[in-house]
Amino acid sequence: MKTLSTLLMALGLAGATQAAAPAREAPGPETGATTILKWKDGKQAVFLLEFDDSCESHIKNAIPELKKRGMVGTFYINPGNGPFKNKQRAWETEVPAAGMELANHTFTHSHALDVADFERELQQCTDEINKCYPDRKTPRLISYGQPGGVKKEKWLITKDETMATLAKLNLIDRPPFWGPPLHQKSAAECLKTIDQALAKGEMGHLDFHGVGGDWLVTPLDWFRAILDKLEAHREQIWVTDPISWHKYLTERKAATAKVLAADAKQIRLQLTSATDPALYDLPLTLATRVPANWKACTVMQGATKTKVQVAGGLARYPALPGAAEIILQPAAD
Ligand SMILES: [Zn+2]
Repeated sequence: MKTLSTLLMALGLAGATQAAAPAREAPGPETGATTILKWKDGKQAVFLLEFDDSCESHIKNAIPELKKRGMVGTFYINPGNGPFKNKQRAWETEVPAAGMELANHTFTHSHALDVADFERELQQCTDEINKCYPDRKTPRLISYGQPGGVKKEKWLITKDETMATLAKLNLIDRPPFWGPPLHQKSAAECLKTIDQALAKGEMGHLDFHGVGGDWLVTPLDWFRAILDKLEAHREQIWVTDPISWHKYLTERKAATAKVLAADAKQIRLQLTSATDPALYDLPLTLATRVPANWKACTVMQGATKTKVQVAGGLARYPALPGAAEIILQPAAD
């Protein structure tokens, strides 16, 4: 009959009972284990607010409501058209200063007679957008929304030609238009879109033309109800612009977090992504298991140094894929 020690030996556990160091000081087998969170800051879902045609009611009604709540909206402008020109100063200065994003809806919303014509319409719009953000690097990714309702005889390029031209100009096609009053007939139907994004843990969006004025109007009380619901779910929903969502999703799908070394004093990681770091430059949110006695930790990546609190044994922090290695060390909390 086997003795207990023989049995333990057979199971490879013999040494375990003699371990001298208190367990809490030794790095557990999972120390350093790192996950890339599905959405920024561990949020449950994503929501985009998009506005088409540079309507004057965006400046008058929508942007003040967004600004009041510290939320970003993305405005698909047509710089060659009247509504933009009538408020050109506001679009070029006040709108970017309010933290809003401008996106490409073509220069005049009226034609793509051939590829060269389409490219001109896109480039003229991008040039105007770049002028509005003089501090941003170029090229960078800009969102594109296909103009709707253009006469067939004025839009003569194929889907393949469209996609190739967008790629050439670093434009990212947005999800198809989805918004009131075309697809939602009440405030309640708009709010349901937010609940669906939360339930799925995915991106949801609402797209607008006029807000409290102009055409295809979303009444202002519907709009306020939408923003109030997003505000009430601020902890669960990442309200962002389509390019930030696109970058996070694309980087995350192509990223790997690898533990280089982990002990009681330091964890070293490398975060890589197959995406082009010149265009895909949004930090991903990582969660790393740290030793049980770390209550806070310092996270370093290149010249960036941040201090984060540890919750449930996990440190959560932003990190840039493809950049320098990441070093976590315990810090006084
Ligand atoms: Zn449009």
